[in-house]
Amino acid sequence: MIPKYRIQCVGGGEMIPDMNALSCPGGHDSLLRTEYCRRRLHLAPYTGIFRYLCWLPVTRPLLPSGGPVTFAADGLARELGLSRLFISFSGYSPEHHAALATGSFKELEALPTMQRLSELGGRIPVIASAGNTGRAFAGISAQYKKPVVVVVPECAIPGLWTTTPAQDVFLVAVKGDYTDAIAVSNMLTAVPGCVPEGGAKNVARRDGMGTVMLDAAVTIDRLPDHYFQAVGSGTGAIAAWEAALRLIGDGRFGTALPRLHLAQNKPFTPLVSAWQQRRRVIDPDLDMPDASNAVQAVMSPVLTNRKPPYAIAGGLYDTLCATDGCMYAVSNDEGRAAAQILRDTEGIDPDPAAAVATAALMQAAETGAVGRDDLILLNITGGGYDRIREDYTLYPFEASATVTPDEPCDRLVAELKKWVAHYG
Ligand SMILES: *Cc1c(COP(=O)(O)O)cnc(C)c1O
Repeated sequence: MIPKYRIQCVGGGEMIPDMNALSCPGGHDSLLRTEYCRRRLHLAPYTGIFRYLCWLPVTRPLLPSGGPVTFAADGLARELGLSRLFISFSGYSPEHHAALATGSFKELEALPTMQRLSELGGRIPVIASAGNTGRAFAGISAQYKKPVVVVVPECAIPGLWTTTPAQDVFLVAVKGDYTDAIAVSNMLTAVPGCVPEGGAKNVARRDGMGTVMLDAAVTIDRLPDHYFQAVGSGTGAIAAWEAALRLIGDGRFGTALPRLHLAQNKPFTPLVSAWQQRRRVIDPDLDMPDASNAVQAVMSPVLTNRKPPYAIAGGLYDTLCATDGCMYAVSNDEGRAAAQILRDTEGIDPDPAAAVATAALMQAAETGAVGRDDLILLNITGGGYDRIREDYTLYPFEASATVTPDEPCDRLVAELKKWVAHYG
């Protein structure tokens, strides 16, 4: 049987036989990328993300599942003096047929990631998260009864809930911040049966997010001229570029890459700072001075990744070069004003990150960085949380274990081993 896809090292171009690899075994500092045998996008007979099964690195869909929805945003377009504005919404809003009940596009990453791990032998992903990622993986775990280990700062627990009771989540609360949670999660990936989920390095995660661009191109019948998104790690933006490359390869959706317009939330804007100087490497002193305070001051904490995959081959720097990209810095005031306009014009209650993306579009419309009649795609990466609360019962979480960052983790590892044994 001809495999559906292969894995390629972007930096060196060589094929990687190990389907589980997260990095190049040959030592290239590079992302790996899927290369699908089918060059033409074939639509599968499912609703939601698995309509794009053709370009997802799994063989079977998880059903039913939600996906991104694309629609003409005429109200917002009028407000901004634009004529061809589309929104891709990854969140929850029955009026918009948007059915991601964890509320953000992290669910697009969680779905194929969890399915792919099942198909590749059932190892259990370990995820460190400060918010939306943890909720997305916990939500998918609850819905499909697939095990997952989630490590979060203790203060993030109230933001974790599911809409069906979660029975297969091993939740570790760390008395510390996101960086401490990452350190604990790294230790737990060594437990037999567990694997690091991989973040941006995980091809399933990027191809899941790439369905935003696929759905837009299929709905609009061509690639957009411009793509707007708020970025923390930049994984979603890299995925948008990769999906656009595939769509160009298909031949039916146009020949030009969309220009990527990416936004961060002031005062934490390392990607804006590094890209403005066209520097390949982020310099913490120059690009994120006073990082701890800056991270505290933003309205959108999901945009405060301190180690984004920027310099790595195939990463965000390459994405911005290839798409002649622009970076925007958005203040909390601009973000809040944009959120209000989005509610008034489109009836969408956005995640703060999506409000930041909308504010970047407002800047671009004002300065002429986008033309009045250009075809524009605005990625509203999350939202509808109030409506989720109205429509569903929310099940809160209790930690399976609580640890301090510096305590020896033997007990925690032993507990996790016992838990993993149930799934052996
Ligand atoms: C994570 C997240 C982002 C940023 O995505 P990256 O892929 O990390 O750049 C934007 N919006 C929402 C709602 C998110 O949860």
